[in-house]
Amino acid sequence: AAKRQTGGAQVYDPSVDTASAQTLSLLSELRRAVDRDELRLYLQPKIDIATGVVCGAEALVRWQHPERGLVPPLQFIPFAEQTGFIRQLTLWMVEQAAAAQAALARANVRRVSVNLSTRDLMDQELPDKLDEILHRHRAKAEGFCLEITESAIMDDPARAEATLNQLASRGYKLSIDDYGTGYSSLAYLRRLPVSELKIDKSFVMGMERSSGDATIVRSTIDLAHNLGLTVVAEGVENEAILKLLHGLKCDEGQGYHMSKPLPLAQFHDWAQRWQV
Ligand code: C2E
Ligand code: CA
Ligand code: CA
Ligand code: CA
Repeated sequence: AAKRQTGGAQVYDPSVDTASAQTLSLLSELRRAVDRDELRLYLQPKIDIATGVVCGAEALVRWQHPERGLVPPLQFIPFAEQTGFIRQLTLWMVEQAAAAQAALARANVRRVSVNLSTRDLMDQELPDKLDEILHRHRAKAEGFCLEITESAIMDDPARAEATLNQLASRGYKLSIDDYGTGYSSLAYLRRLPVSELKIDKSFVMGMERSSGDATIVRSTIDLAHNLGLTVVAEGVENEAILKLLHGLKCDEGQGYHMSKPLPLAQFHDWAQRWQV
């Protein structure tokens, strides 16, 4: 039973039992999801804005739940992060992406992006684990980009930096995700071995209507370029936004205007149509 420490005396707290029981059941469901093959790899294309050609894809997880249907990541990723299950999930995603590399190459994808969490950055064995998976699939680190948010780095910057240096030295490309939503300065981020910056979709989606958002997008692109970074805009929802980004010399774009995230087979069909 759950006991709560109150100045020496142990008091029974039923709410703790209920909460931990729920946590346990969700966690065992999530573990089973892997065993039962209920997790799905979805892919969303990234295009080169100057040429319109597909250049990459972001790997995004979905949970095909037998009763609840297709569960979006925001409903279980935060939980997976809390419980540490995310580390297993990350390795699963890398494995799926590595297995899909040949098929992705036929769809013009030269590099696949995978999201890392704080927990991954705190794991000093992550670089070895990734190398082991890639080795089994005869995949190259250069074919992978690892996306990290500023907040994941800021949890423990020294440790994150050590892991990132390891990953970069082994050939993985590193990207700062959701840029603009955290508090870190580019001055700090440039110390890290990153080569790409992804502007958060909230600014990109707002740039037609809000001059403030448009200013943030423009100045981020200029600053990133001055630091030698590739800039990706996510949340490209329509042609008008794509044109604005083209005018601002943004390098790459990702968003519903090109395609929503798709399973591999559909991604392949989409890419065939996009090329003609
Ligand atoms: P994120 O890494 O920022 O991924 C981009 C999210 O924006 C995706 O949502 C994508 O579907 C959505 N998106 C892309 N283009 C557009 C657009 O034009 N309009 C709008 N409204 N949305 C767009 P998704 O797949 O639901 O993922 C949400 C978040 O869950 C991700 O945000 C990421 O933080 C997390 N996530 C997803 N898969 C994984 C994973 O395998 N590992 C980890 N650690 N996190 C993941
Ligand atoms: Ca991402
Ligand atoms: Ca993002
Ligand atoms: Ca995000």
